Amino acid sequence: MKGEYKYVIVGGGLAGASAIKGIREHDKDGSILLYGAEPHRPYDRPPLSKKLWFGKKKVEEIFIDPPGFYEENGVELRLGVKAVSLDAKAAELKDDAGNVTRYGKLLLATGAAPKKLPIPGGSLSEVCYYRSLDDYSRLREKAAEGSSAIIIGGGFIGSELAAALSANNVSVTMLFPSPYLCSRVLPKALGYAVQDDFIKRGVRVFANTSPSSIEYRNGRFTVTASDHRLFESDMLIAGAGVAPSVELAEGAGLILGDGIDVDTRLRTSDPDIYAAGDAAYFPYRELGRRMRVEHWDNALSQGKLAGENMAGAGKEYVHMPYFFSDLFDFGYEAVGEVSSNLEVVADWEEENKKGVLYYLKGGLVKGVMLCNVWDKVDEARELIRKKEPASPKGLMGWIR
Ligand SMILES: Cc1cc2nc3c(=O)[nH]c(=O)nc-3n(C[C@H](O)[C@H](O)[C@H](O)COP(=O)(O)OP(=O)(O)OC[C@H]3O[C@@H](n4cnc5c(N)ncnc54)[C@H](O)[C@@H]3O)c2cc1C
Repeated sequence: MKGEYKYVIVGGGLAGASAIKGIREHDKDGSILLYGAEPHRPYDRPPLSKKLWFGKKKVEEIFIDPPGFYEENGVELRLGVKAVSLDAKAAELKDDAGNVTRYGKLLLATGAAPKKLPIPGGSLSEVCYYRSLDDYSRLREKAAEGSSAIIIGGGFIGSELAAALSANNVSVTMLFPSPYLCSRVLPKALGYAVQDDFIKRGVRVFANTSPSSIEYRNGRFTVTASDHRLFESDMLIAGAGVAPSVELAEGAGLILGDGIDVDTRLRTSDPDIYAAGDAAYFPYRELGRRMRVEHWDNALSQGKLAGENMAGAGKEYVHMPYFFSDLFDFGYEAVGEVSSNLEVVADWEEENKKGVLYYLKGGLVKGVMLCNVWDKVDEARELIRKKEPASPKGLMGWIR
């Protein structure tokens, strides 16, 4: 079937859903087509590793918009259909259902996909590379009380799922190569404190441990570690990071970096094609470099701005990165550059439980993590934007 739309959005995640709102702020009735390879309308991913497991949300509550939203806004949904090739010169897109679609403006909100472990058995279909609502449903079915899971990876997904499964009486073993949990963002003392809490709650933690092979036989996994130790379980979940989904952009000859290269207005190297969310590699002025952000808030705000710009707004993306996580009782929100490689000044009200971490570079605050401290994100953003020299003493009590 051949069709023509003023706006085509590829990707039915948060960035794609937000783009609809951006477009409609400036163009009330231009035709919109949204492609989603998954069979579901756009939903939020953070509850997949948190609230759904703790009884704080039901599946029907994670969808971004109600079903009627798309009809009311004149959006045609093509769900369960994948866009497979892009001809930027002809402004045409082909999908795996045999449709050819011409677009006026196109958004690539294709997100990211889990990286496979590059070890024997790493590509077995039984290994769960956790990303989607269907992954949640499958894991939920298997995660019966008393079952066991090995989680490979000590980053966000691995740690959050370890907490989620263990709170559902699954016996959890974590293996990861770094010295402690979430070591890319948490400073050492806090990282070890969070890890000790996991251990106290019954999670078996094997830090500094890499898997070297995976076998699956008669419904059981065996993981051999690089030091030859063997681990067995009923489920195996791998959280080894994600890679941006750039196949369409690559096939069309668009410029790529660590994702799809865009300018400050989120336009790719083709002026009619935009990119946003986990797939976009954008220039971030505050840090003076390009970056790709794999977080909810970035997909929300970039998707919206890309939509506005597709409809002619011409705005620059200057939003400061923000993310959040929950690890049992330890919840946090973070803004700016939050890397454990920076100098970290801690202002604890309750050590390693409640307080504020300041991430400094060259004497300036570059990032702030609010640990079980809520509703202070605006103040944290303000502090970073001020770019005033900060001393550890001067920061004490700044945000409370
Ligand atoms: C389990 C989990 C928990 C998370 N928790 C947090 C959190 O606590 N805090 C936080 O800040 N962030 C969190 N994140 C990250 C956050 O969810 C992502 O940054 C966000 O989903 C990115 O949105 P996106 O729209 O760019 O991409 P995605 O959500 O990846 O959506 C892209 C969509 O496009 C589809 N697609 C790709 N290619 C095509 C194609 N060619 N044709 C059609 N469709 C296509 C994909 O199937 C996918 O549905 C979490 C992520 C996961 C997986």
